[in-house]
Amino acid sequence: MDVKVNDSCIGCGACESICDAVFRVNGVAVVDASAVADNEDCIKEAAEACPVGAIEVA
Ligand code: SF4
Repeated sequence: MDVKVNDSCIGCGACESICDAVFRVNGVAVVDASAVADNEDCIKEAAEACPVGAIEVA
């Protein structure tokens, strides 16, 4: 799985709340790529919860 946060991110913190192993929000969300493989379910949840659709999952 490839996870990116695009420029739409408003730094709301929802993704970190849902999946804190992968997302760190400090102004905008940053992805810890090394944690992606073990956390795919919560990444999908975070992508669905993001209010601006900034999390791109491929
Ligand atoms: S949920 Fe979306 S808008 Fe909010 S911090 Fe995460 S990526 Fe950014």
